[in-house]
Amino acid sequence: IREARGREYTAEERALLESLAARAALAIEDARLYGAATQAVKARDELLSVAGHELKSPLNALQLQIHLLARMAKDAMAASGLAERAEKAARAGQRLGLLIDDLLDVSRISAGRLSLNREELDLAALTRELVSRMSEELARAGSEVRLVADVEVLGHWDKLRLEQVLVNLLSNAAKYGAGRPVTVQVEARGLVAALAVRDEGIGVAQEDQERIFERFERTESAQHFKGLGLGLWITKRIVEAHGGGIRVESQPGRGSTFTVELPLPGGAPR
Ligand code: ADP
Repeated sequence: IREARGREYTAEERALLESLAARAALAIEDARLYGAATQAVKARDELLSVAGHELKSPLNALQLQIHLLARMAKDAMAASGLAERAEKAARAGQRLGLLIDDLLDVSRISAGRLSLNREELDLAALTRELVSRMSEELARAGSEVRLVADVEVLGHWDKLRLEQVLVNLLSNAAKYGAGRPVTVQVEARGLVAALAVRDEGIGVAQEDQERIFERFERTESAQHFKGLGLGLWITKRIVEAHGGGIRVESQPGRGSTFTVELPLPGGAPR
């Protein structure tokens, strides 16, 4: 190594330069790690704030309903509204439970601990069951459901996880479906099982169609609906763990179709 004027560096100068370079490299690495750590802390703080906010609202509803229930229980004359109050309290409790499950899933999946309990099951039958289980929620949202799932579609899948996929897609259709009809279709297409959930609601703009599958990503038009922005991320992780994929086709104001494809047993094309 030579100085600009052409003189050779001495051994001491070289040692000094090398140690400076090593320090600079360490400092840059420290700065990079610090940046990554600060970002992780920021993401965690954001999560805690959003989660805290979202968990608070069903909790408030729960407390209000329980308070009213207690008052009604004292006053037997007003007991006619009791069942309705209890129902509302139960729903708020259920929502709280689902939000907490989502948060637990995020940490489980992020830590690479999503394991599947596969069993033979019929996706069409499972879908019919879940649509019936969610019919009240869909009806409350004003959405009539058209179900096309009469032909058996057998595969080896994790039942509880696929139930979660169905619950997420159906509750999104109820939430963002603007009270318009929701169509749910299950069929075998060649070597894949396809589940499509279509609504005619607010839709997702082209530029948002990728990011909504990421953690905490929500579109502008969804801001006044409740949610943590975790459902689609979890759904995608579950579908991918099964070797499948999920995609959305949508136009703002016209509705969205979410399609899940899962490989069918049998593997290679015949
Ligand atoms: P959440 O509904 O709790 O916000 P999701 O992960 O399920 O979380 O969805 C992420 C975002 O994707 C939503 O906030 C919304 O912006 C958009 N989205 C999901 N499903 C639909 C749908 N059926 N129609 C329109 N937008 C949707």
